[in-house]
Amino acid sequence: MRQFGGARRRLIEELQRKGIEDLLVLKAFDDVPRHLFVPTGVQHRAYEDAPLPIGHGQTISQPWVHAKYLSLLGLTGREKVLEIGTGSGFQTALLTRLAGQVFSIERIPALAQEARDALARCGIAQVVQRVGDGTLGWPEYGPWDAILVGAASPDVPGPLCEQLAVGGQLLVPVGGRDEQVLVRVRRTATGFERSRLDAMRFVPLIGAHGFES
Ligand code: SAM
Repeated sequence: MRQFGGARRRLIEELQRKGIEDLLVLKAFDDVPRHLFVPTGVQHRAYEDAPLPIGHGQTISQPWVHAKYLSLLGLTGREKVLEIGTGSGFQTALLTRLAGQVFSIERIPALAQEARDALARCGIAQVVQRVGDGTLGWPEYGPWDAILVGAASPDVPGPLCEQLAVGGQLLVPVGGRDEQVLVRVRRTATGFERSRLDAMRFVPLIGAHGFES
């Protein structure tokens, strides 16, 4: 029997009540065991729709936030995507169910290693991971069909826009350290289109094009 099977189903129903309709996204939540991406001390809370501590002053984001990001992107399974802020690796795992190629950058080496271990425990081997400053992007492997920033930035990091493919999308929470608005940047044939979406609360993005540590 699946561990936390009932709790997982209730989380998916809660996401649906909160407006998540994309069946592929909901299926990814059903497939990926969130309890394997959090410390054992909070595993009993893994299927609450809440952020949880993962050590090093960081959090695994609220499931609704991950679901919202993934629904907005509308991935078809073919895209090459870059995630900034691997954190627990849970969203990374969801992305492997929805995109073609998944790359992820984390600035804290210990978290990157824990995420690598959690992904391996789930039998996920196809993620390309790196430790470093994700605000600089990963130009060697770009351009990207989608870039997901999982930490709050004072502004849209310029290098990430530059590394978008035409038709590509960037999602980044922009604002102060305490509150942000999710911003979507789309690259068109002639430039960039920006839209402001939901209010968000993330830990800070620390780096050359983010906050100072
Ligand atoms: N989606 C992840 C999850 O749910 O586990 C988000 C984790 S947490 C909200 C944000 C992560 O971004 C943290 O692990 C933090 O260390 C990382 N981070 C902050 N600034 C970064 C940067 N410049 N480059 C890469 N990672 C960064």
